[in-house]
Amino acid sequence: MAASSSKGAGRAPVALVTGGQRGIGRGCVYALAEAGFDVVVNDLERSSDAAETLDGVVERGQRAAFVKANLAEVDQHPRLIDEAAGAFGALDCLVNNAGVSVLSRGDLLDVSAESFDRCIGVNLRGTFFLTQAVARWMMAHPAADGDPLRSIITISSSNATLVSIARGEYCISKAGLAMMVQLFGVRLAQEGIGVYEIRPGLIHTPMTAKSEEYYDRAIAEGISPIRRWGEPEDVGRTVATMATGGLPFTVGQAVCVDGGMYIRHY
Ligand code: NAP
Repeated sequence: MAASSSKGAGRAPVALVTGGQRGIGRGCVYALAEAGFDVVVNDLERSSDAAETLDGVVERGQRAAFVKANLAEVDQHPRLIDEAAGAFGALDCLVNNAGVSVLSRGDLLDVSAESFDRCIGVNLRGTFFLTQAVARWMMAHPAADGDPLRSIITISSSNATLVSIARGEYCISKAGLAMMVQLFGVRLAQEGIGVYEIRPGLIHTPMTAKSEEYYDRAIAEGISPIRRWGEPEDVGRTVATMATGGLPFTVGQAVCVDGGMYIRHY
């Protein structure tokens, strides 16, 4: 049986975080490093944000590597996995974080095929096939006795269930992820791979910066029972809990990191 993946237990566990250079991804990278993981950060470009994130892992006492790849390009996945697993000789945890929002908010009746295909292509299609490829890799490289736990954790959104009429194509992509997590949860339960979903609410990141004032008002008016922005570390700490076995005997579970926004209230 796999051992706990906490600091000091055999070799360090290794995590791959897609879209990990900034925002929620960085919060996940830092929380995993604090939990004793070596971390491979994937993103579209190796920017100054990526350098800062990699430095942050080293400051936390762990090893960091970067792999440039586009999640939407499924033919890049084999190289992404080879380089990620090759960086530190293992791959114990995948965090499916990379995602895009809509090209422009607007009426559902005006959603363009371009924006729809982009949301589905990155958020759902890319994530589905990377999950499939990592699951195959893990099954082809069975965990040895004493190896860390294995997990695949997907960052979806409160919009997996919450209707946001001006961002229909994004909602559809995230609702698809909720089903994907349950499907892989059931498929991989006997393989010793924990599969989980996190549904963030309003989190302070570059993605939400464009609509900050709009969301400031929504928070002040009580859209979530906890009246503050979520921070990337709120999501990161939940990822680390899942990746270190903090949800035993659970399969495909979704945790809402949203200040209680998911609960109908008035
Ligand atoms: P963000 O600030 O835009 O960061 C996303 C990161 O993913 C960026 O570094 C981005 O690179 C990268 N990325 C985008 N497309 C990619 C691709 N095809 N391949 C590889 N990397 C790619 O977004 P965030 O707010 O941190 O969101 C992270 C995840 O949480 C997303 O899945 C998002 O839908 C979800 N989420 C966010 C919120 C929120 O309130 N912020 C709420 C619910 C769910 P570029 O910047 O170069 O494009």
